[in-house]
This record gives sequence, C-alpha cells and structure tokens, in this order.
Amino acid sequence: MANQNETITLIGAGLVGSLLAVMLAKRGFKVEVYERRPDMRATDISAGRSINLALANRGIYPLQQAGLMEQVKPILTAMKGRMVHDMQGNQNFQSYGQRPEEVIYSVSRGDLNIICLNAAEATGRVNIYFNQNCQKVDLDNNQLTIKDELSSEFKTIAFNRVIGTDGSNSAVREAIHAIESSQHDIISLGHSYKELRIPPGPNGEFLIDKHSLHIWPKGGYMIIALPNEDGSFTVTLFMANEGEISFESVKTPEQVEQFFNQHFPSIVPLLPDLQKDFFENPTGKLATVKCSPWHFKDKALLLGDAAHAVVPFHGQGMNCGFEDALDLIETIDEYGDDWAEIFTRVDEHRKINGDAIADMAIENYITMRDSVTDEKFLLRNALAFELENRFPKHFCPRYSMVMFHRLPYAEAKSRGVIQEDILKELTADVQSVEQVDFEQAESLIYAKLTEVNLNP
Ligand code: FAD
Repeated sequence: MANQNETITLIGAGLVGSLLAVMLAKRGFKVEVYERRPDMRATDISAGRSINLALANRGIYPLQQAGLMEQVKPILTAMKGRMVHDMQGNQNFQSYGQRPEEVIYSVSRGDLNIICLNAAEATGRVNIYFNQNCQKVDLDNNQLTIKDELSSEFKTIAFNRVIGTDGSNSAVREAIHAIESSQHDIISLGHSYKELRIPPGPNGEFLIDKHSLHIWPKGGYMIIALPNEDGSFTVTLFMANEGEISFESVKTPEQVEQFFNQHFPSIVPLLPDLQKDFFENPTGKLATVKCSPWHFKDKALLLGDAAHAVVPFHGQGMNCGFEDALDLIETIDEYGDDWAEIFTRVDEHRKINGDAIADMAIENYITMRDSVTDEKFLLRNALAFELENRFPKHFCPRYSMVMFHRLPYAEAKSRGVIQEDILKELTADVQSVEQVDFEQAESLIYAKLTEVNLNP
C-alpha cells in the first residue's frame, strides 16, 4: 500500500498527466502537477491541434479503473469502420470489426482532459499549478526550475519523485538523458498535418455518416475526418513536407483552391471555411520519439508522449499513454514503495510496447492512405475475419488486436507479422474468401500460431 505521506510530482497536465494524477491520488498519494499552459477550463484550447481523438479499448480500460468511464461515456461517438471516399464522391464502408462491441470512439481532447482534471482535483489530494513551465530538472539535487508564464518569474521546487508526462518535447526526458548513457531518437516522418472543419448541416445534422472514420486516400497523402458531438467533423490533411505534392507546394489561396479541387473534389463542398482554416491553423510536424531509459533510479520516470511520441495513424498515442499510467499503478501495487524497482519494471514492461505501437502506427499510414483501395488488402481483411470466426483461439486480425483488445502491443505486432504471411499465402491464387483452402489455413495456423490471450 502506498505511503500516504509520499508526494509525487508530475510535469504536464495533458491527457496522461491528468489521468495519472487521478489514479495516484486514489492510491493515497499526494500529487503536485505543474502545467505550462493556462487552465483549459477557463481558456479555449488552441484550434488546429487534434481537436478529437480515437479512444479504443486499451484507453477505456484505464479510464474504467480510475472510475471515470461513466463521465466519459456521454461524450463518445462510436465509429464502426472506415468510410473510404473516392474521387467521384462514392463511399465504401469497411467495418473495423465483426461484433457490435468492436468499435472505436471519437472523443474531444479538451472534454476528456477536463473530466480528468476535475476528477483529479475532486480527490482532494491533487494540486494543479497552471502557467508553470518546467525549464530544468536537476536529478542530482531533486529540484525543478519552474518559470511562471504570467509573471516570468523563476522558482526552485524540491521533489521526491518526478514523472514526466510533459509530451513529446519533454523536459524530464532531457534531464534523464543528460545523465544516463542513453538512446534518444526523434525520427521525423517527413510528413505534417493540417486540421480543417466540416461544420454541421443547417439543422445541426451530420453531413456525412456520423459513425465512421472517413478517409479520402490518395496513395502518398490523405484526408481523414472524425465526428464531433455537435454535428461537425474535424478533418485532417496529412501530406509530405516537401516535394511535388506537399505542404511546401500549397502556399497561396489559389494553390489551396486548385489543390483541393484537383485532388479532393468530393470534400470541397463540405469545407466552407477551407481557406480560413488552412491559413489560420498551424501545420503540425509528425515524428516518432524512441528513447531509453524511461527512468532514472528511483527519482524520475517518463510516461505518455514524453517516452514514446508516435505518429497518429493507429489512433493509439493517448491509448498507449493511458496504458502506461495503469501499468505504473499496478506496479506500485506489486512493489509497494521500492521506487527503483517500480520504475525499472515499468520501463521494462512499457518500452517494448511503445516501440511496437510506434512501428505499427507508421505502417498504418500506408494502410490508410493507400491499401484501403487495394483489392488484395480487402480480400485479406475479409479472410482475416473468417479465420477469426473459424479459429478464435488462435487468430485475431491485427487491427482488432490493437484496437479492441489489450494484449501487449509487442505481441500484437509479432503475431501480426505471422498472420500477414499466412494471409498472403492463402490468398496468393484466389479472388474470393470462398476459394480459400481452409484445410491449408488450419494447418498453417496451428503450426505457426500459439493460442492468443486477448485481454490479459
Ligand atoms: P500531451 O497531450 O502532449 O500533454 C503534455 C502536457 O504537458 C501538455 O499539457 C503540455 O502543455 C505540458 N507540458 C509540456 N512541456 C511542459 C513543461 N516543460 N512544463 C510544464 N508542462 C509542460 N492518440 C490517440 O490515442 N488517438 C488518436 O486518435 C490520436 N490522434 C492524434 C492526432 C494528431 C493529429 C496528433 C498530433 C496526435 C494524436 N494522438 C492520438 C496522440 C495523442 O494526442 C497523444 O499521444 C497524447 O496527447 C499524449 O498525451 P500526453 O499527456 O502524454 O502528452
């Protein structure tokens, strides 16, 4: 059981920091949280920075464990599959799963964060200090240097243990990696994103299907749209930074108009504020952060994007961060107040999984922008569902393992590689699922795949 006098310091009250604060407080800790930005409950969060997110089973489970799902449920919009839009405006629905519960949810980043902030403060054990920018973490002397963003004054604050939930440019990560012999890669994708908006119809209605994640795939680039509760959609254009078709080549209002008319004609009528959104919203760069270690002795730990920023194409960055937070809590339950052991264990459990989802997220960019229109991809997907039905103890489509279940990402990734080989072999010479040799399928599956534990 936690030492009730122990105070844990968090840097960052984003999604992961605020949920972690709730969980730690419910275990009896006092929690001090320093957040660089103003309190989002009093100010609008900045437009154009992933307004909504896909929440999946892995993220839901930690929210349930923190006792927050009843508050979160009303702000969720189920997405049952991808709606793929072609150049002519035709739409093709591809289900994500094959059971009613196999859906993911669109959720407002701000609303979810606010639920966690309120819940943290309601425990009575959490203090959240806003406009407090952590500039330096001194791990030798257990001191933080904090700049007050309003007064520009600096102060020094002592800590026992600090957890960096301060996102992809983490100050805590910088401090850990300045001391340890470390590996620290920030791998640019070479692509960026721009958020746009489809407003609701005249009567507040959704102008495209409410229960889909919409994709306009174009091979090397794409647009996606996720529903918001108010009938609008947050639209995101993903494209290379440089090159013939790139953000660099779309700079003037004329170029924007021409680009969208030429490449995305079917979405243009849905984007009345295209020019304004395009030029007012920032262009966000996409990168993967892979680093090691995630901790320093019994003093510091990284969780969420601070440890593993991933590109957003599997919709798992936040989900993975929530899993990190729960893993820390479960490890505390196991190891009591042996903090060196706790931080080492969390690092061991989570680093391999952070790396695995980072890799799968990059692969999924190609799936979304390209493969979703490929006949063989669709055939393999249909066969994957059929194999799941016939061999449920051994076969689960990789998308389902990542989005609907909780087996570790690293296992989903390695099973996914084996399954993909099986799917390729079985579909090499056939055009439909009916033509597949299921005796061959059975022998391949039993030879290559062990039984799967989907929700360990
Ligand atoms: P952040 O959300 O970045 O929060 C970090 C917090 O720390 C911020 O509040 C910041 O102000 C504060 N901070 C930073 N530095 C300091 C400092 N020095 N001092 C004090 N405070 C500091 N994930 C999903 O699961 N599903 C999705 O569908 C999805 N879609 C995405 C779409 C896009 C376009 C992008 C960019 C990301 C998407 N993600 C998605 C990823 C998700 O946004 C992140 O994984 C998630 O926000 C990570 O939460 P976090 O709390 O670790 O970091």
